[in-house]
Amino acid sequence: MLEQDIRDRIQKLVHPFCITKGERFRLKDFDPGDTGGMTLDKAQGAELVQLGTKWLAEEQDMLYAQDRWSLLIIFQAMDAAGKDSTIKHVMSGVNPQGCQVFSFKQPSSEELDHDFMWRYVIRLPERGRIGIFNRSYYEEVLVVRVHPEALKREKLPSQLVGEEIWDERLADIARFEDYVSRQGTKILKFFLNVSRKEQKRRFEERLEQPEKNWKFSPSDVMERKFWDDYMEAFEKAIQATASKHAPWFVVPADNKWFTRLVVEAAIVDAVGSLGLSYPKLDAAKQKELVAARTALAHERS
Ligand code: ATP
Ligand code: MG
Repeated sequence: MLEQDIRDRIQKLVHPFCITKGERFRLKDFDPGDTGGMTLDKAQGAELVQLGTKWLAEEQDMLYAQDRWSLLIIFQAMDAAGKDSTIKHVMSGVNPQGCQVFSFKQPSSEELDHDFMWRYVIRLPERGRIGIFNRSYYEEVLVVRVHPEALKREKLPSQLVGEEIWDERLADIARFEDYVSRQGTKILKFFLNVSRKEQKRRFEERLEQPEKNWKFSPSDVMERKFWDDYMEAFEKAIQATASKHAPWFVVPADNKWFTRLVVEAAIVDAVGSLGLSYPKLDAAKQKELVAARTALAHERS
C-alpha cells in the first residue's frame, strides 16, 4: 500500500492532466512543454520513474495473485511523441508474464471483415494482467476520421454511414468502456501531447542520426499536413469519452522525462486505488499447507 503522503503528492502531480469529464475540455489549454513547475534534470526524473516501476512490480504480483482486476493502458499520440519509449520505461520492472503489449497498425483484410471493435476485444487483458494498447480503437475516430478513404475500406453498408457516424462511434466507445470497467478492468488512456514543432525536431533527429534512421518513415512527414484535423479529432474524442472510470491523461510530451513521470504516476495512483493484497487462504487451504510442509519435512533427502 502507498503511504497517504506519497499518494497525495502523486495525485497532485497527475491531477492537472487528468480529464474525467469532457464537456469543457479544450486541447489549447494544455501546453505540450509543461513540466508542472518541476525543474528536475533527466537523471532525477529517471530516478523517480524507477521508484514507481519498483513499486508497480510488487503490486503487479498481487494483481496476478488475486486474479480479479485487470488494467488496460491505452497510448495514443502523433508520431514521435514517445509512445514506444514511454512504454519501455514505465513498464521496465514488471514481470513480462503478467503484461501484454499490443501494437495496432492498419487493419488486415480479416479484421476489416468484422466490426471495428473485434480486434481490440479479443486482446483485452485477462484478469490479473496488465494490457497495453499501443494505439487502440481510438484510431477509429482519429486516423479514420481524418482520412475518409480508411472508412471506405471498412465496408460498412452505405445506409449506416452518415454525418453522425463519428458521434455514434464515440458514443459506442464510451458505452464499451462502461461495460469493460464494470467487468473489473481499470482503464487508463494517455494522449501524449507533443507539439508540432517538437515533432519536427524529432523527425530531423531521426534523419540525422544513423541509429535512428530506421524509425523514419516519409509518410509520417506527410501526416503533418493534417495536424489540425488530428488535433480536432483528439479533442472531440476526449470530450466524448473522458469519464471517472476511463479517464484521459493529456500528458505534456515535449520533455520525455516529464512524460514518463506523469504516466508512471498515473498508473501508480490507479493501481494504488485498487487496494490490492495477496489472497487470504481459507481454513481448508491452510490445512493443506501444513500437510505439505509436514510431508516435505519427512522426505529422506
Ligand atoms: P512506430 O512508427 O513508432 O513504429 P506506429 O504505431 O506509428 O509505430 P506504424 O506502422 O508507423 O506504427 O503506423 C501504424 C499506422 O496504422 C498508423 O498510421 C495508424 O494511424 C494506422 N492505424 C492504426 N489503426 C488503424 C485503423 N483502425 N484504421 C486505419 N489505420 C490505422
Ligand atoms: Mg509510425
